[in-house]
Amino acid sequence: MDKLDVTFQGTVSEYENCMCSCCHDSAKVLKLQIPETLYFDGKSLSTKYHGVWVCKSCAQKMIGELEKLIPQPENKPLTLEQLRGMDGMPVYCIGIVNKGLDGYGLVNVKDAEIIDSHCDCWTFKKYGKNYIAYRAKPEQEESK
Ligand SMILES: [Zn+2]
Repeated sequence: MDKLDVTFQGTVSEYENCMCSCCHDSAKVLKLQIPETLYFDGKSLSTKYHGVWVCKSCAQKMIGELEKLIPQPENKPLTLEQLRGMDGMPVYCIGIVNKGLDGYGLVNVKDAEIIDSHCDCWTFKKYGKNYIAYRAKPEQEESK
């Protein structure tokens, strides 16, 4: 049997004055075309879509709920062991000795250092003494 390329693509279009499937409010809604499955219609395989109409506020809520389902890795200071396992990945360094030198750098395990965009090097030897690193820029402390 021949192979067929089947497109699984969602599309979004805007409509005025349609009813939202979530809150039943009629307003400007987004029509989401969601691919369901591929099916065999007797001759060939194709993609079946079904449409969902949601207003913007429901779409926002849905996105918010979905985001909650995706676990966010905790952004704790990395251990040196973790750094060694992150070759080539970006980390956010925070200077302990030289404050203000914060920034993203790339882990380079071969040379046991983190290279940042200012070309300053953070060596593994000084890790925990001169600086610490995070997976992502830590949230700013609630200030004022
Ligand atoms: Zn709605």
